[in-house]
Amino acid sequence: MTKILSVNAGSSSLKFKLLEMPEETVISEGVIERIGSILDEDDNATIKYNGKKYSERLEFKNHESSIQYLLKKFTDFKIVNDFNDIKGVGHRVVAGGEWFNKSVVATPEVIEKIERLASYAPLHNPANAQGIKAFSKAMPNAIQVVVFDTAFHQTMPEENYLYGLPYEYYTKYGARKYGAHGTSHRYVASRAAEILNKPLDELKLITLHLGAGASITAIKNGKSIDTSMGFTPIAGLIMATRVGDVDVSLVDYIKEKEELDDEQMMNVLNNKSGLIGISTISTDMRDLLEVEQTNHHAKLAINMFVDRVAKYVSQYIMELEGVDAIIFTAGIGENSSPIREKIMNKFNYLGLKVDKENNAKRGEEVQLSTDDSSFKALLIPTNEELAIARDVVNLMEKD
Ligand code: ADP
Repeated sequence: MTKILSVNAGSSSLKFKLLEMPEETVISEGVIERIGSILDEDDNATIKYNGKKYSERLEFKNHESSIQYLLKKFTDFKIVNDFNDIKGVGHRVVAGGEWFNKSVVATPEVIEKIERLASYAPLHNPANAQGIKAFSKAMPNAIQVVVFDTAFHQTMPEENYLYGLPYEYYTKYGARKYGAHGTSHRYVASRAAEILNKPLDELKLITLHLGAGASITAIKNGKSIDTSMGFTPIAGLIMATRVGDVDVSLVDYIKEKEELDDEQMMNVLNNKSGLIGISTISTDMRDLLEVEQTNHHAKLAINMFVDRVAKYVSQYIMELEGVDAIIFTAGIGENSSPIREKIMNKFNYLGLKVDKENNAKRGEEVQLSTDDSSFKALLIPTNEELAIARDVVNLMEKD
């Protein structure tokens, strides 16, 4: 039995899950928020363990102090006897560029590269690196492993990762598609192979990670061959607040009309577009579905979301030259029967039929297509923390 901590260090937050491996059971999970910022009245540290939930309002100057607090709570609450019981920490890192095509042990060189990739993910990579450094200092005896969001997509062929830009921008600046959500796509694909009882390297899969952030990946023989997010996660699908694919000429046009500077324009594209931009009501698919029948904008946002998903799936069926299964995951994919049904119905013409009883289920592994469908649709809840913990264990064994 080994305890492994999966962490996601954001610029002002630290999310964690402590797992017992290889049993893969969750011992504790939680989040520390508003690190380094001014507190409001709410609790900002929450820890769940043994069916209990503890939360309090505390000031944390930086990641280091929040980590010290967390480790102390683990021992105070007897979640561990000693924090040295935690043998490994797995860190989620957003951008790995072309340097990383798999998870690696966090050496000083690796951390330096993560920092050098900051321009690919300015909000995330510096915070991720800070988290790794702070945990390495606090837990020098634990192996520190880095799991990259982009790594799984490094198998894309150059035809798919390049843009139609002058080639030298790729060689000089790394201007290409990197994708994201790789850990989730990889996890649900490997679960799909187990469920379908077929080797992953014989399958054509399309994974639909539909959350507030959303992306779709075409997976051939276990390898990502194309994905909808791009140089950054702004590209591809219409998301809760992100624009997705858009004619780049519109960026300057709107900047001029609205008198926005670069930062304000990026804020529009990242935070004010997508479902909230079109519906003007909410970023949350649940709210839109509630008023779908009476509110044109809500209905339009839903239809555009579904259409864009279906277009990517269609394109990927072509790229894969067929498909064995499409897999729904993340907030919307796991919980929203109506959205799944609308998406699946777009493929009735290809012989996909919805199993209505199964599609009414939420958050559990289930086959969504009828047995006589031409390909399968599956619901597989994602589990990025587990995928991270598995990578830590694999690298511990190699070390
Ligand atoms: P992220 O990790 O990108 O923040 P999640 O995967 O947690 O996102 O998904 C969050 C989104 O899932 C919410 O914005 C909401 O729109 C959607 N969601 C959650 N439950 C439901 C539901 N029952 N019906 C429709 N959408 C849902």
